[in-house]
Order: sequence, then structure tokens, then C-alpha cells
Amino acid sequence: MQSTRQVGLALEEIAALLEFGGESGFKVQAYTRAAEVVRTLGDELGPLVEQQRLRELSGIGTTLSRQIDEIWNTGTSEYLERLRALQPPGVGELVQVQGLTPRRVRALHDALGIASVIELRDACAAGRVRAVPRFGAKTEAKLLAACERWLTRGDEAPDPVLLPRALQLAALLEKRLAAAVETAALAGALRRAEEGVRELEFVIVGDAEPALTELAGLRQVLRTDPAKRLAYLTDALLLRLHPTTRATLGNALVEHTGSVQHWDALLARARARGVVLRAETEADSVTAFPNEAALYDALGLAFVPPELRQGGSELHAAEHGGFSELVELTHLRGMVHCHTTYSDGKNSIVEMARAAHERGFTYLTVTDHSPSAHYARGVTLDRLYAQWDEIAAAQEEVPIRILRGTESDILSDGSLDFPDSVLEQFDVVIASIHARHRMDAAAMTARLSRALGLPIFKIWGHALGRILNHRPPIECDVPALLDTLAAARGAVEINADPHRLDLPPSWIPAARERGIPFVISVDAHSTRGLDVLRYGVSMARRGGVRRGEVLNALAADDFAARVRPV
Ligand SMILES: [Zn+2]
Ligand SMILES: [Zn+2]
Repeated sequence: MQSTRQVGLALEEIAALLEFGGESGFKVQAYTRAAEVVRTLGDELGPLVEQQRLRELSGIGTTLSRQIDEIWNTGTSEYLERLRALQPPGVGELVQVQGLTPRRVRALHDALGIASVIELRDACAAGRVRAVPRFGAKTEAKLLAACERWLTRGDEAPDPVLLPRALQLAALLEKRLAAAVETAALAGALRRAEEGVRELEFVIVGDAEPALTELAGLRQVLRTDPAKRLAYLTDALLLRLHPTTRATLGNALVEHTGSVQHWDALLARARARGVVLRAETEADSVTAFPNEAALYDALGLAFVPPELRQGGSELHAAEHGGFSELVELTHLRGMVHCHTTYSDGKNSIVEMARAAHERGFTYLTVTDHSPSAHYARGVTLDRLYAQWDEIAAAQEEVPIRILRGTESDILSDGSLDFPDSVLEQFDVVIASIHARHRMDAAAMTARLSRALGLPIFKIWGHALGRILNHRPPIECDVPALLDTLAAARGAVEINADPHRLDLPPSWIPAARERGIPFVISVDAHSTRGLDVLRYGVSMARRGGVRRGEVLNALAADDFAARVRPV
């Protein structure tokens, strides 16, 4: 129900922003009503979106069905983002407070200038809301409680903010901070490249107070709290500052980048060597490290890349051999898993190829959806042959190699979506699940096991089918399926779409142990979609993946030879 709830919230936010901008009541009501309709659908929403049947619902026309589809698939929509940019940043969040409708948000703003949850909380606490017509003391008390609930982020905690948005915000804040202090460096979960974050952390050389003052004017900053060295941001994110000195910048960066477990393990190791990384008592004299490399070096360890500072086996690895050849973005040479206008992509074959070439890549795999994927205009056999002709023609025009592929649905019974005689003719086959995600573990394992065990080379696409903040991973016996994939000589995808990031990094070591090769793929549905590759690389690094384990780090000929289905 989580996902349905989110679509409902987004539609209500659109309604609130429209109302705020003085839009007609008709339009506001249409979005408010759509939010209600979506809520009553519950689990039924997903299948309706995927089968493109939203317009069968009363009150949902073309525009609304497109909005719902986009929000369902990406968590937001271009329209919503455009409206957000026009209104005060806290408005969209106000409508999420229980008991507030778009109209009431507008009324509060007109009467009291309230444009964020924190302002509303303060106004309720000060007894100012009861004076607004149609609110009253009882409503005020209820709203105060609702604001507190929203702000304390308990069960109703807002979803973590995903990598693209978090990185974009962090870059903006870093620039502003750098104007106020000597150094501002990103730390925390975002530097470790976690899939979603609730805090942005920076280590600064200098004082927190001027740094926060510098940020106070930004529309992304709701309120600053110098005593706690933090700021509340829109998107329900916290910004946390960790002041330090130039001499101990290395200590602070390692402390605030690593997970607690990573830092604790380092503290223990340092103690055994008489090195004090952080003062615990007045008497402690800290061993100062101006940079991180010096700190790891003093502890007899190779530099641990931030993505690996998780408190697992990384210190053992840092002591025995280090992390040379950990995969990097610059190692990759092929754009794998690209959709075109033949299925649900926005750009043509030649446009995708040119865009990949411009980004410095030497090959691209065209892998549109297979016939069963009706919702994504899967490519039927006659259109497939037309596509191959078009690929041949495009190949004459672009300097990079275009490989003919498919993203074949794994059907309910575990078979693939083309007959063997066709599958054999592809240059590359990605096998993915797009429907019936909710089978029980035994049935799902049997279904996948049949597909992954087929005697052709295939890449297991977005393996666990998760959509971050939106759809949980499928239930299945992952170790057994990786065994099957390894035995049948297959590869697994690290899907770089920031909403997927699938195979999840936690399972990557299990694939590595079995010798399964990886592709870090873009799953691009437009030329812009090619730019997500870096997120996939971050996940691969978190899983310890080396350059030699990544098929699309190979040159075009070698890649083509390795992935040929038979
Ligand atoms: Zn897919
Ligand atoms: Zn795809």
C-alpha cells in the first residue's frame, strides 16, 4: 500500500500547489478527487497502471492517467516538479499533514503567511491558528499534534531521498558552505553512496554558525538550528555539520563518512596501536591526520574507498591486498540495456547511439521490450525484423557499434518471450520480470530458476524487481538462483536507474563469490537516461566489484563474444 499512498500524496501535492498558485477550482478538484480514487484502489493501482487501464476509472482522463503513470514509475512528475519550483518549498509538505486540505493550506498562508510544516507547528504552539476563520482551538490542537508527528518521522517517516536529488542538493549546499568556511566536504551516507538518505552530512573546517547563516537564504532551507549544527531542508532532509580543524580533517572525514561499525572497528585497531583517533576524555591527546589516506596508512591499512566503509569485511581486505582495480566509471565502454522508440523509449536507435558516442562509449545494446510487455509496447516479431533493418541502417551512420538485443520478459511459467530460433539470433539477451511480482517465494524461485537455467547466455535484468520507496524486492531464494545462473553461464545486471539499483549491493558479494560476471547497465529510456551510469558504478563499488568482473568494461568485440546467446 506504500506505493499507492505515495501516488495519492503526490496528486494531493499537485492540488495544493495549484490552489496555492490561484488555479481554478475545477483543476484543483480534479487532482484532489484523483488522489481519493487512487487511495481507494489500494493494491489494484499497480496492475491498472501497468496494463494502461487507468482511464477506465471515473474522473481519470488522459492528462491524469499520464500523471499517475509517471508518478507511479518515477515517484514524481515533470508537472509536479514544475509546480514545486513556482511555490514556496514547504507548501507541498503541508498538505501531507493530517487534517489539511489544499484549501486549508491556502487559508493558513493567506491569513498567517504559513508556508512550511515548521511554521505551522510554531503558529499552532503560539495559539495563532485558532484565530483563522473555520479553524478554532480544537483544530489547532489537532494540527499541532499532526505537525509533531510529521516532523518526528516515526512510522510515517517520509521516504529517503534518492541519489540524484540528494547529490544535486549536496552539490548546491557544498558550494554555499565553501563560501563561508575554509573547507566543506561531503561525508555521511551519501558519500557512501547509499541508495537513499535522510541526512546530508558535511565536515567543515571552520564554525557552524556562519556556515548556517550562509545557507539561511536558500529556498531549500526551511530553518537552521545553530545550537545543534543542523538545518531542516525541504524534501524532509536534515543537513548536519561536523566542524573540525585543518589538522584533524582526516580524522573527522573518516569518522563521519564511515558507518558506525566501520568507525568502531578503526577505533579498536587504533587503540591497539596507541593511536587516538578521537578524544574521549580531556586528557586524551588526539593523533591528528590532515587527510584520510594518512590515517589508514598509520593503521597499516590500504585506503578504503568511501563506498566500502560499511563495517563488513573491508578492513580485512584493506590489510590484505587493498582495493586496486575497483571498478570506476572511466573503465566502462559500452552502454548496455537501452530502449528506443520501438518499445517505451523516447529516442530513436540512431539518437541513442549518437548520444552514447558523445559520452565516449564505443558500443550500445538496443534491448527493447519483448512481445508480452504490452504495457511498454513490446516488440512483436514483424517489428523486430524491421528494427534489425533499422539497426543495420543506423550502423552506417554512427561510429559506435550497435548490438541487437532484447529485454525479454520472464513469463509466469519461467519461459522467455521469443522462440529459441529467434533468441539465438540476438547479439545479447537480457531476461527480466515485469509482471506478477507478487508470487510466493517458492513459485517465484521456480519461475526464475527455469529462466536463468536456460542453456543460452543471458543477463538477469533488474534481478529483484524493486523500485525504491515504492515496490519491495520480489520474494525468492537468491543464493539458489545465483547458483543456477552461475551453472548456466549467465551474467547479472547492476541496473543503474536510481529508482532500481538492482541487483542490490548487499547481494553483489554473493554473485562475485560464484564467479558471475556483471554488466553495469543504464536501462535508458531516453538519451538523458544514459547519464545514470554513475549510480550503477557506485553500487558495484559498494559490492567490491573489480574492473575484470564487468563485461561492459571490455572492448566491443570482446563484449560481443562474451554475451552471444549461443
Ligand atoms: Zn525492465
Ligand atoms: Zn528495461
